[in-house]
Amino acid sequence: MIDIKNISKWYGSFQVLTDCTTNVKKGEVVVVCGPSGSGKSTLIKTVNALEPFQKGDIVVDGISIADPKTDLPKLRSRVGMVFQHFELFPHLSVTENLTLAQIKVLKRNPDEAKKRGLKMLERVGLIAHKDKFPGQLSGGQQQRVAIARALSMDPIVMLFDEPTSALDPEMVGEVLDVMVQLANEGMTMMCVTHEMGFARKVSHRVIFMDQGKICEDCKKEDFFGDPSARSPRARDFLSKIL
Ligand code: ADP
Ligand code: MG
Repeated sequence: MIDIKNISKWYGSFQVLTDCTTNVKKGEVVVVCGPSGSGKSTLIKTVNALEPFQKGDIVVDGISIADPKTDLPKLRSRVGMVFQHFELFPHLSVTENLTLAQIKVLKRNPDEAKKRGLKMLERVGLIAHKDKFPGQLSGGQQQRVAIARALSMDPIVMLFDEPTSALDPEMVGEVLDVMVQLANEGMTMMCVTHEMGFARKVSHRVIFMDQGKICEDCKKEDFFGDPSARSPRARDFLSKIL
């Protein structure tokens, strides 16, 4: 579903990604972890073409991002993305937040968009809040709306960039529960997270990044299994967060 092939990226003279290669198969859940500044956000943003790269290619569902003929906005509309900060529109109601991109980007009619949006809102357990504004919701609820909004676009894959790291601790669980449910339903997911409980429970593979490189890319069982098989950097990282 996602084929990342030898991606390198520079900010000016600073190389932020070095020859990153990996893939995510249909229905697979891949967790990306690693120290702050290691390039996790940059990598995940290259997948929906929010960040350009100078070398390599990424093929999403058969469509090459590096190919100048590719319709990037169209591709982007099929890749759901949830960030650390919920990025809901504060002046729009929950329902309006859910329908806006469906109407503008997918050209759905408003009734159809509303039907789809409310179905996804129900899925994340927030249908009772459909007429509220983001400011009237808790951080955890806003993040669940952000997930529902992404799902309303019928994404072929969902990308998450530390979706729980800005939340108060008591709200982390409700967002992870929604992500676990999605994973169990077979959604293809690439998740930057330090929630190793989530990684253990639902991921298939774990990628560990350091200094712009993919240092480990292995099955979950191997990543959490034998620490002596891990690189020293991954071991050091795990010892700090586990
Ligand atoms: P992570 O998500 O793993 O914390 P990032 O992908 O956000 O890492 O950042 C990787 C590196 O790239 C960091 O050193 C960061 O300072 C740098 N960086 C990120 N965005 C920019 C930018 N727009 N311009 C210059 N450097 C950047
Ligand atoms: Mg980041």
